[in-house]
Amino acid sequence: MNDSERKYVIVGNGFAGTTCAEGLRKLDPACSIVLFADEPYTLYNRIALPPLLRKQVARQKVIIRDAAWHEKHRIELHLHTRVDRIDVAERAAYADGRGHPYDALLIATGGRPNPSQAPGAAGAHNVFNFQYMDDTLAISDALETAKSAVAVGGSFIAYELAEAFASRGVETHWLMRGPRFLRRMLDEIAGEMIDEAACEDRVHVHYDDEVGTFTRSNGAVTKVLTKKGVTIETDCVGVGLGLTMNTELLAGTGVRIKTGIVCDDRLETDIKGIFAAGDVAEFYDPVAEMHYRMGTWNNAGAHGKVVAVNMAGGDQRYHDVPEYSSKLFTNQTITQFGLSPEYRADLEMVRKIDREKKHYRALFFRENRLAGVVMIGKGNRAGKRRYLEAIKTKAEFARTERQALLDWTAD
Ligand SMILES: Cc1cc2nc3c(=O)[nH]c(=O)nc-3n(C[C@H](O)[C@H](O)[C@H](O)COP(=O)(O)OP(=O)(O)OC[C@H]3O[C@@H](n4cnc5c(N)ncnc54)[C@H](O)[C@@H]3O)c2cc1C
Repeated sequence: MNDSERKYVIVGNGFAGTTCAEGLRKLDPACSIVLFADEPYTLYNRIALPPLLRKQVARQKVIIRDAAWHEKHRIELHLHTRVDRIDVAERAAYADGRGHPYDALLIATGGRPNPSQAPGAAGAHNVFNFQYMDDTLAISDALETAKSAVAVGGSFIAYELAEAFASRGVETHWLMRGPRFLRRMLDEIAGEMIDEAACEDRVHVHYDDEVGTFTRSNGAVTKVLTKKGVTIETDCVGVGLGLTMNTELLAGTGVRIKTGIVCDDRLETDIKGIFAAGDVAEFYDPVAEMHYRMGTWNNAGAHGKVVAVNMAGGDQRYHDVPEYSSKLFTNQTITQFGLSPEYRADLEMVRKIDREKKHYRALFFRENRLAGVVMIGKGNRAGKRRYLEAIKTKAEFARTERQALLDWTAD
């Protein structure tokens, strides 16, 4: 390595970190890039883990970058290696006691799943989180012989678990503390529509309830006793109770941590030369005019591209409307973009519901601007591009005009 080469260190080889490494190599053919991953795998497609669990894709298809790709792009990849400390004065990232100097550093460490705290969960060998490749392989093994399984939580991850359990032919219970799925984003009617879709797939959903205790036998949970007093026999438990962001390595650096690593719209933190991207970044969104975190695959990739430009000395702002789409069991779909009540409590809503067609559309306004949209229902996405454009351009709509926006169809 030449002393004049710029040195980049990236912590986390998810979609954000690996996309950034690829971008840096394109922008700066001579630089050195060191990429750390505490998992044993090269980049895999985390959003393909649910189809892998449902046995709809093969494991080889889920790995999307191999070791040869890293060699070809001259990215020095350290698998199974955790960075535990950043020395800001020395400008070095420490792993296994060795310092790796950087000119620019990216933290793209994502989050780790919260375990169930219920009595009986710790150490049980059939209670799983669902975040990593290894989790997926272990759950899949357990489902080979399971007759009944319980998904715990009201988030997307708990939904993915419930859907996978049902699609693997296992008697499925879905237990959530709130009154409906995504209770902070969806209202009562939207919740009922998702409930219908769950019932059609023969999932037993338990609302306003949570695990009281797990009963165990030979290290495995055999029964879930809920706080409301329901007993569910089970062979497998999947837990989706949110993520804790991996920010510990920044302790003592002065980098601001709130719900994630606080950074600006260039994805740079308050400490020059230290950047954040992907799930862990609490970034400034100039469209929404606020900081927040966004846990989606597309956001991680888009962050990776922008942050590479800025780490290499460029000046690119992240300016996008966050977007998420998912199928919900066999007969429903959801698309959400921009802000929802999950992010801000002061949004005003207009909505349109067609129970027969199973369509639901909610538009959220902040002051006079369209700020976000939720669309539920197969064939109910027309008008999406027009909404996105209106959000991006900060178009204004008086209260009297809002209802008409619900009928936007043509793009
Ligand atoms: C089961 C599942 C299904 C999903 N489905 C969807 C979907 O349908 N659509 C969608 O948009 N999003 C989905 N997501 C979310 C999406 O996958 C994430 O938002 C995205 O992958 C985040 O990428 P990232 O690069 O920010 O972080 P991650 O992918 O979390 O990568 C961070 C990596 O850094 C490693 N790491 C952490 N700390 C250290 C350290 N100190 N040293 C070294 N390495 C470290 C972590 O172990 C991890 O490997 C899903 C997620 C899961 C788990």
